[in-house]
Amino acid sequence: MEFELIEFIKNKITTDSSVVIGIGDDAAVMEIPQHQQLVVSTDTLNYGVHFDEKLSPNDVGYKSLAVNLSDLAAMGAAPKWCTLNLSLPELKQKWIEGFVSGFLDLAEKTRINLVGGDTTAGALSATVTVFGLVDSDKYLQRSTARKGDLIAVSGELGSAAYALKNPDSQLIKHLQKPLPRLDISERIKGFASSCIDISDGLASDLNHICKKSRVGAKVNVEHLPVHHEVKKNPNWMSYALSGGDDYQLCFTFAPKHLSQLPADCTVIGEIKCGKQADFYSNNEKIESLQKGYIHFNKA
Ligand code: ADP
Ligand code: MG
Repeated sequence: MEFELIEFIKNKITTDSSVVIGIGDDAAVMEIPQHQQLVVSTDTLNYGVHFDEKLSPNDVGYKSLAVNLSDLAAMGAAPKWCTLNLSLPELKQKWIEGFVSGFLDLAEKTRINLVGGDTTAGALSATVTVFGLVDSDKYLQRSTARKGDLIAVSGELGSAAYALKNPDSQLIKHLQKPLPRLDISERIKGFASSCIDISDGLASDLNHICKKSRVGAKVNVEHLPVHHEVKKNPNWMSYALSGGDDYQLCFTFAPKHLSQLPADCTVIGEIKCGKQADFYSNNEKIESLQKGYIHFNKA
């Protein structure tokens, strides 16, 4: 059955000329272009921790790749190859077919080559590793934001967290099929000074930039891009700042590059001296926020 699964996957994919040896040998072999560097990231989705029956097998397959592509986007890297490690309690054909089609739909759209993986019996879990390319030394980092830089985010924040609590909302697609922002990454990589993808919520992820870059941040919450349906909810600020699962990009850049900011990105504040991200409403610091998001419960 394991061999059947591998054959099933193999028959569904095509690979480009960068793949010298793909699925079927003891290891894969790939051609790495000169003057480029390899960027690698991996993430695991465990049943009961990161997903449950509420997410269809197709969505789990899609998401297992999407969250990894989001990490490549944050590094300014173009996706090139990936591996898929599946742990399955029993080989339930319907679940596997759903998973594989969700995974391969996104792989095809983003032109990433599936070059291998592993299939084992165990608790339901999917680990994806992605390999991307950047021009040498042109990767983006969390640790390079500078005082005076502007802070921007892509898309809208809080939609996935809102949909988790309001599953009948049309915003549910943000939870089921988050779009990794490879499009934005491509357009900002030439001028952004730092970047992170927002997986845990803006408050937490912008603080990673602050800590790593040894700077502070001032964000105006009135400027946060939030869908009007979420904005109507009294908890909109919690969803937008600490809901998580947004998979948008948060990045910084020198103000002289403002005219290069892509559509679908919003300036939300600036980098200051300091040690953390502070959030302001009508020029007043929101002191209760810290407590608010610690108590915010995603479930
Ligand atoms: P080995 O015992 O040498 O590790 P496997 O039987 O695990 O070989 O894998 C055989 C081939 O199938 C390898 O090329 C491996 O990368 C690929 N493979 C196994 N499982 C998966 C999977 N879930 N997705 C993609 N490729 C897989
Ligand atoms: Mg193996």
